Parts: sequence; C-alpha cells; structure tokens
Amino acid sequence: MVFPNLKAALLALIGVVITACGPQVERPPSELQADRHSMVTFTSDPDAACRGISTHKGEARILGCEFHSALVVPNPCGVSGAYADLLCHELGHANGWNHD
Ligand SMILES: [Zn+2]
Repeated sequence: MVFPNLKAALLALIGVVITACGPQVERPPSELQADRHSMVTFTSDPDAACRGISTHKGEARILGCEFHSALVVPNPCGVSGAYADLLCHELGHANGWNHD
C-alpha cells in the first residue's frame, strides 16, 4: 500500500474537523436530549455513509446522521477526548476485544 497510514491520518483529520467544528454543531432543544435506546453505526467515513439518507444533504461534509432512529457517527477511535476514548474502548469490546 502506498499510504499505509492513510486510514489513521483520515481518522485523525475527522477528529480535528469534529473538534474544530464542535461548538458549531447545533444541539437540539433540551426537551429532545433525553436518554433513549438507539442503534449506532461507527464509520470512518460518515459523509459517504450519510450522503443520500441524511437531512443534511446541503452540507459540504456530513459529520453524522440519523436514519430511522439509528445513528451514523464517526469511528470514535479517530477522535480525541475522554468521551471518544470511552466509546473507542467499548467499540473494541463490540469487535471482540477482551483485555482481561
Ligand atoms: Zn473494557
């Protein structure tokens, strides 16, 4: 492979974009922030996964979307921060990791 670290670089870039754009991501009204069960797809390319199904069609780059109550969001292992670390850890378990 010509760019063996391309995937890692892309994931890091997604993390930078999300971090940089974090304050600009609109939050829903507080009454729509309640706990709920939802299926989640973690993907290294949410733009490709969401394009065509997202209500965010006009955006230059789609960072995540919801489709029939399922969430499509960036792979947390390419994003920095404590919450991303927690999700990356649990994603590892979902992928078969057993650290004990
Ligand atoms: Zn664990």
